[in-house]
Amino acid sequence: MTEGLTAVFARLIAATGPISIAHYMAEANARYYGSRDPLGAAGDFVTAPEISQMFGELIGLWLADLWQRAGRPEGACYVELGPGRGTLARDALRAARRGGLCPEVHFVETSPALKALQEAAHPGAVWHHDLSGLPTDKPLLIVANEFLDALPVRQLVRTASGWRERMVGLDADGAFLPVAGTRPMDAAVPERFATAAEGAIVEASPAAATIVQEVAGRLAAQGGAALLIDYGYAEPQLGSTLQAVRAHRKVDVFAAPGEADLTAHVDFATLGEVAEQAGARWLGTSTQGHWLAALGIGARAGSLARAAPQAAEAIEAATIRLTAPAEMGALFKVMGLAAPGWPDGAGLHRVT
Ligand code: SAH
Repeated sequence: MTEGLTAVFARLIAATGPISIAHYMAEANARYYGSRDPLGAAGDFVTAPEISQMFGELIGLWLADLWQRAGRPEGACYVELGPGRGTLARDALRAARRGGLCPEVHFVETSPALKALQEAAHPGAVWHHDLSGLPTDKPLLIVANEFLDALPVRQLVRTASGWRERMVGLDADGAFLPVAGTRPMDAAVPERFATAAEGAIVEASPAAATIVQEVAGRLAAQGGAALLIDYGYAEPQLGSTLQAVRAHRKVDVFAAPGEADLTAHVDFATLGEVAEQAGARWLGTSTQGHWLAALGIGARAGSLARAAPQAAEAIEAATIRLTAPAEMGALFKVMGLAAPGWPDGAGLHRVT
């Protein structure tokens, strides 16, 4: 049996000192996703495409609409980052084909467990470990739902003696706990937060920024568009958003690395700037509730309910769960990007 990550981390920290939050989160999630299907009622959490087919369908329609208005360029590829069980892709591709868009399918996935499920649902797809192997000569229509939030964050904490990286150490009983690093990190703190009070935490995800930069660069060079959907904030903010979820409950981030899903909120303002600097058009960032409403989730729910009256209540409940501000509607955001020269995306407008 593979050694538990708790023991691996404990040995590493005892031997060489505290490890960074980013290191802890990256290794914990690699172990977590690599070893299981975390989705669904019997798993740890439920995502929007697993709640209702309407979510993926509206994404597929959005892509097909944009592709049509871009002049139906040849050879467009559907690319999904972290496709989970392949449910979103199934619903999106069905809807896109009705709009005349029949793309090649490419998945970026590192988990062997989830790749096996995706293979069963999408026998014709091509898999990649990262974005580097994606085609370089065709427009890319890129989708990522609840992908960026699983990428590691770095945290800086304000101490009495200045800013330090937030690390994971061991207490006297061998439990993990957050500690401040020894190296001064003042230079890494954005100016607007530099004078924050002692105890303040600044969070950033260099891994998410790197991926968005790569996505934007590809769009600029090859054409295409991207929809990045996740829970997060539209304006930069202070504080740790790192959380662990297991069996649909929040648990201690430091209790059982590799056994719970670790996520952090996505900083959409920063990612929008990164995308523009890398040459893409930032089409806007909307809340999931507004975006789905603008795309016509109400009408789609109505027609599904008329076709299957026995499911009408469940369809109504799913619509509320996806769109109501107290549910997923306000916390989840939808960010659209496109190649220069590509048209605006339905339901999105620049707020700045
Ligand atoms: N998009 C799906 C699954 C979300 S869970 C849905 O909405 O249901 C996060 C997904 O990202 C999983 O498929 C996970 O294996 C994948 N993932 C996490 N970290 C990754 C990484 N660094 N590279 C590629 N895929 C990753």
